[in-house]
Amino acid sequence: MAAVRMNGTIAARRACPTAAERGPETALHSIVSMLRECALEAGGSFAGTGIGCTGPVDPETGIIGNVDLLPGWSGFALTSRLAGELNVPVAMENDADAAALSEASVDHSQRLIYLTVGTGIGAGLVFDGQLYRGAGGSHPELGHMTIDASGPLCYCGATGCWEVLASGPAMEEWARASACPEDRLEVPFSARKICELATTGHPFAAKVVHREARYLGIGIANLITAFCPNRIALGGGVMESSNLFLPEIMRTVSRSCGLVPFERTVIAKSGLGSETALLGAARVFQHRFPELWKA
Ligand SMILES: [Zn+2]
Repeated sequence: MAAVRMNGTIAARRACPTAAERGPETALHSIVSMLRECALEAGGSFAGTGIGCTGPVDPETGIIGNVDLLPGWSGFALTSRLAGELNVPVAMENDADAAALSEASVDHSQRLIYLTVGTGIGAGLVFDGQLYRGAGGSHPELGHMTIDASGPLCYCGATGCWEVLASGPAMEEWARASACPEDRLEVPFSARKICELATTGHPFAAKVVHREARYLGIGIANLITAFCPNRIALGGGVMESSNLFLPEIMRTVSRSCGLVPFERTVIAKSGLGSETALLGAARVFQHRFPELWKA
């Protein structure tokens, strides 16, 4: 977490493990004390707080849903409890939406999609400066659109979701299952290591990267066909190596998007890097309470 000035710079930051198993009350206590430390260090007080949280979360009520990484937290009213402790307004969004708002603060494309590929695949859509929401404020789960109906079973219940084919763990699992003994990749296989080896011309790593790029390309082509965005910003751990994937992504897009002006969509790595999540949380607050944001 961080104290973010209204000019978009970070004034102070703190981090600690979530320790989800100790429950939300313990986490709330840590969050409040760290936020107070950040305020002291920044030499001021908070106008409010923003949160980007792994989904599902309800942005309207600020209640945590059935989040895989937060077992036992379902139903916890994080924003109202935090607002009560700190006596300031608090807003929460899905973390991909928070990252999309962060990207939109530096990239004023009219139709922007922020795509994160790491342990999962998520996307946030900002159209004309506003976060796109589904019915009842819901967050579209684009990482779970079907890419190959004959593909592996996903934890969401469907088969062949984008996430189960092209997330970092999916890439690692395919590499592990497909490697021959002579594929001298080190164990455990990691997406980062595979990408490093691919840049040195390692044939098996290059094969894994090609498969990954192909699935990334199919999903991105679907996004372009569905939304015709001005820009798709690529974030998340796997996209640290986006230069390895982009040529095949572009080939797939040009083959697949014949009915839309795909050449108008800029596909490029996000420029915000590791600060995206911290700044995104601040932008969540700004987006919800623009009248309180005095840059
Ligand atoms: Zn799924």
